[in-house]
Amino acid sequence: MSGPRDWSPQSASRPGVIRRTLPVLLVFGLLLGALFYLRDDLRELLGTAPGSPRTAVAAHLVYEKTGPVDGRCPGLPEDLDADQEATLTTLAGCLDRMWRATLKPAGVDYEPPEETRLIATPEEAACGIDDFDWAGIYCERERIVNVLTEDGGERRDTFGMMFTLAHEYAHHVQQLTGIADREGSEVFDEAWSRRFELQADCLAAASLRTVRPYLLNELRRGAAAGRDEADAGADAARRSHGSGASGARWMLRGQKKGTIAGCNTWKAPADEVS
Ligand SMILES: [Zn+2]
Repeated sequence: MSGPRDWSPQSASRPGVIRRTLPVLLVFGLLLGALFYLRDDLRELLGTAPGSPRTAVAAHLVYEKTGPVDGRCPGLPEDLDADQEATLTTLAGCLDRMWRATLKPAGVDYEPPEETRLIATPEEAACGIDDFDWAGIYCERERIVNVLTEDGGERRDTFGMMFTLAHEYAHHVQQLTGIADREGSEVFDEAWSRRFELQADCLAAASLRTVRPYLLNELRRGAAAGRDEADAGADAARRSHGSGASGARWMLRGQKKGTIAGCNTWKAPADEVS
């Protein structure tokens, strides 16, 4: 009964426990590994991946029901630089007209932004955001468009400001249509932000495509190079707004297609919104 050959109850059961649990543990481990490996696909399958191509906004009614954005602004002065403020104010009126007409077939009642502000310093922006590294900003809650008129104390190029204005207007459209809303478990992250911003670039290009096409081409080529500088600011911009190459590609799509449907970044594969 007792003696060297006796096993204590614990040690006697240990090999049995290991034998029984080891296969279970292995299967569990394999499952965990597979889940980890497939996590992005699974999240997309379930439609919960932030900024995933399967988010509800990719199938928004507005892509189906709307036609080409007008893309003209007949009231603009021949010399855009003569009076920058007048140029931008005229363009704002054109953008209101364009978007009202474009969104109507989708049943969206267009309302102009509460205010469009041309400001010299980011601190003057209406939304009170701490981040001062931008050329334009749309305050979602207040529905106010802000466009910066100076860059490091110097007056900005007029067409650059016009593009900023059109880009912020695009955010206004995203807001009015509900594209800016995040559904269910969707969260704001960099992948979501890139789809959002690249769509605004595309819509801005669509709305300016016949205003001054050669200036838009120039701006697009500049964008392709500019955002890819190697500094911290450019890095952050790339992560939240996409690479210069992506920006240029979506601008070109906006120019060519001229429609909201042509600017559906929400259903694009991840490498097109990188
Ligand atoms: Zn933006």
